[in-house]
Amino acid sequence: MERWNFGANREVMIAPSGTTVRGVLKKIMENLDKDDPSRPTVPLGHGDPSPFPCFRTTVLAEDAIVDAVRSAKFNSYPPTMLGLLPARRAIADYLSHDLPYTLTPDDVFLTMGCAQAIEVTIRVLACLGANILLPRPCFPSYGAHASSNNLEVRYFDLIPEKGWEVDIESIEALADENTVAMVIINPGNPCGSVYTHQHLKKIAETARKLGILVVADEVYHHLTFGTNPFVSMGVFGSIVPVLTLGSISKRWLVPGWRIGWLVTSDPNGILQKTKVVDCIISLLNLISHPPTFIQGAVPHILEKTGDNFFSKIIDILREAAHICYDRIMEIPCITCPNKPVGSMFVMVKLNPSLLEDIIDDMDFCLKLAKEDSVIVLPGVALGMKNWLRITFAVEPSALEDGLGRIKAFCQRHAKKH
Ligand SMILES: *Cc1c(COP(=O)(O)O)cnc(C)c1O
Repeated sequence: MERWNFGANREVMIAPSGTTVRGVLKKIMENLDKDDPSRPTVPLGHGDPSPFPCFRTTVLAEDAIVDAVRSAKFNSYPPTMLGLLPARRAIADYLSHDLPYTLTPDDVFLTMGCAQAIEVTIRVLACLGANILLPRPCFPSYGAHASSNNLEVRYFDLIPEKGWEVDIESIEALADENTVAMVIINPGNPCGSVYTHQHLKKIAETARKLGILVVADEVYHHLTFGTNPFVSMGVFGSIVPVLTLGSISKRWLVPGWRIGWLVTSDPNGILQKTKVVDCIISLLNLISHPPTFIQGAVPHILEKTGDNFFSKIIDILREAAHICYDRIMEIPCITCPNKPVGSMFVMVKLNPSLLEDIIDDMDFCLKLAKEDSVIVLPGVALGMKNWLRITFAVEPSALEDGLGRIKAFCQRHAKKH
């Protein structure tokens, strides 16, 4: 009998498949009926619009990459693990447009997409303290990294009836002397929410009172199409230190390029004084960094992309959000507490008691994939049982098709009175 002293079982897996969007979607996609070529799959589950022709990035960005490669200036390892200086400077300038103070290149650290900025942040926080506060619902990466780094997570609720605003009172009740940070995702994934200046200020003041820092995931920065404009959490950096996480993945529709940032929006230098910056730097020296030529292209992409590209994308997203909301209103077993006004997603509530043979959100998604080849994300993946997250950032014809199939699916499964 062979014997080995290593090996992991399900309980100790680093990120069990149920804890990531990718893992949950994989399970649902395994349920697709692949024998029906007449019905192409409509992917409303994850947020990567880049394959759709209407969401192609700007030629200017593509040219910037080509030119960076052709210049032969970026074939080396980058001289520093923190990122090329021109790229850090360009990001500092770009983000400073949204702030009442100016960021410097020293505030900016380059990461492989916002995903790696999350990973670095959580690993640093895991060294600093005992627990962090996450929103519910939440982009699952935060919880997955926290659990793989033995960092305790406490969830505060977002209130659907109030535009998915943070339940501020519950934060004060959750935090204790071991709490080091709270996470805010604005514009929101999965909720499609955009917070007001006033609400963000209240969050900053609450964090200040508790002595914790704010991690602001702004990967959907400026992807807003309602009445609230995008306000960066960094605006309140003099009230409370903010770690701003972002990337070009969503605004430029190039998630495959893997370039993002971790930024200290902290004009009082508190993160420096408390050695958080030292922790970030030592961790960055340990891990991989974005390819040099992508870093080389960043200044041109950030400085030269015209407003017409951004406004074209915003117009498509606004129209798609509108279609999505209207179609969902026609489906009795699904309700939408808030029309999405930002990002690429909407959270909707499923009422399984109106359905004949569907027990919950997961069951709904598995059967919808099997019978109608439509993929949506079950709320359980985000900590919200019997909710669904739908992305509307797909080609408009595919969106209409997918929502039509969801409606037909719900009609077929409705309880007959
Ligand atoms: C997509 C996404 C990320 C990851 O961004 P990348 O730049 O593609 O790594 C991080 N946070 C949220 C909320 C996201 O939706």
